[in-house]
Amino acid sequence: MFFYRNSRGTSISGNIVKMSKEIDHDFTNKIVCPYCREEVSDSWELDGECGEFDCERCENTYKWERIVTIQYSTRKILWD
Ligand SMILES: [Zn+2]
Repeated sequence: MFFYRNSRGTSISGNIVKMSKEIDHDFTNKIVCPYCREEVSDSWELDGECGEFDCERCENTYKWERIVTIQYSTRKILWD
């Protein structure tokens, strides 16, 4: 059972469904429908950290969450 708030602030609960391994929908660069593999091309435009999404292809509703990782880079400075 999970609980979260959708974009309208409504509290939603549901049961986690055992996922098939045929569709690559975890840790993808875009949101991928876990039912039909449809990619959401403007995934980055969705507000918040998670929510629900109605697939435009198969019309199933599924839960999405955004996983943000922070990375750092350093460079040497070439002093005069
Ligand atoms: Zn779909």
